[in-house]
Amino acid sequence: MSTNDDHHLDANAAGGALREIFSVDVTAAGTSCATCAHSFTFAEALLHAWAPGLVGRCPACGEVVFRLVRAPGRAWLDLRGTTCLDIRMPEGR
Ligand SMILES: [Zn+2]
Repeated sequence: MSTNDDHHLDANAAGGALREIFSVDVTAAGTSCATCAHSFTFAEALLHAWAPGLVGRCPACGEVVFRLVRAPGRAWLDLRGTTCLDIRMPEGR
């Protein structure tokens, strides 16, 4: 795929949509484990909170589904262990 064409925008154009998504509580969001395909809500992940950050594991197979590390003024969110998120948005948004 060419990145030098007229069929794309600068990703800054997605800023408003991403800001809307990341402003809701995602613990109720549905997802699937990228390893075993088990479907669950984020709240059902097995949370390990004693690491330098938060690590969520699949409740079925135990593989890592997310990692969240915070530092002053920064956050790193790694969702490589999941497929897509099914986020319930407040009405009217
Ligand atoms: Zn799994």
